[in-house]
Amino acid sequence: MLNEVQAGPYTVRGISVGGVYTSLQVPELDVVLDAGIPIRSFAGTERIFLSHAHPDHASGLGSLLGIRRLLGKGAPQLFLPAELESSVKEALQVLGRLHHTSMEVHTVPMLPGDVRPLGHDLHVRAFRTHHPVPSLGYQFIRRVTKLRPEFHDLPPQEIARRRKAGEDIFAAREHLELAYATDSLAKVLETEPGLFDSRVLVIECTFVDPKRSVQDARDRAHLHLDELIAQAERFRNEAIVLMHFSQSLGPQEVRALLDARLPPGLRERVRVLAPDAGRWFG
Ligand SMILES: [Zn+2]
Ligand SMILES: [Zn+2]
Repeated sequence: MLNEVQAGPYTVRGISVGGVYTSLQVPELDVVLDAGIPIRSFAGTERIFLSHAHPDHASGLGSLLGIRRLLGKGAPQLFLPAELESSVKEALQVLGRLHHTSMEVHTVPMLPGDVRPLGHDLHVRAFRTHHPVPSLGYQFIRRVTKLRPEFHDLPPQEIARRRKAGEDIFAAREHLELAYATDSLAKVLETEPGLFDSRVLVIECTFVDPKRSVQDARDRAHLHLDELIAQAERFRNEAIVLMHFSQSLGPQEVRALLDARLPPGLRERVRVLAPDAGRWFG
């Protein structure tokens, strides 16, 4: 069963448990974030983003491409850390031979800071995350151009004439729409401070159990809830989606701890990507 939350104007749906599986979809951006488990209803999405190649984030890729073939879909775009490109291509070639089917993708290798257009005014910028393997986070951005204030009074024909003449009368503005940050040390909040300003922030929170130390989370290159709470004042996001919880606690225990421990002001903006009750999927 998929979990689904509404985060500002965006729907974030999918499944995520640390070390087990993570695959999310944001339909409004037409993106799939990681492919640690093949999800039928994600297969038609044309853009897949890999944060890194740990199995809980990447091992469902071949199956997802297999489902695409059933749907008659061609090669999707696969955005991934540049260091992974040749290995992922090689792995997909082997899978293609094994399964006697095409596993073709259009890879888009990314380095921290790289920006790629995604159509209309939407762009993606890769940023560095802190994990023991090549890894990236992704910030989705809308770039809008607006008439500079000093030209606001110009009549439309004059604006058109100046634009045609190549005059610089427009200013570009960037809106940080949604950021995806997993798996990483909390240090990512220092190296990518724009995360505090992204309208929606989807971020891992592997450890929420106060019996587990922050140092333990750091040793595993993951985030601890205490580290988010310590910076509670800095989050200016409209919504924060927490995911990638450790399976050492059940979904209800995770929810209860978040309710008890997140400070007011932050709690009401947090969306928990976990089942409402029962057990983790599978
Ligand atoms: Zn993971
Ligand atoms: Zn990982």
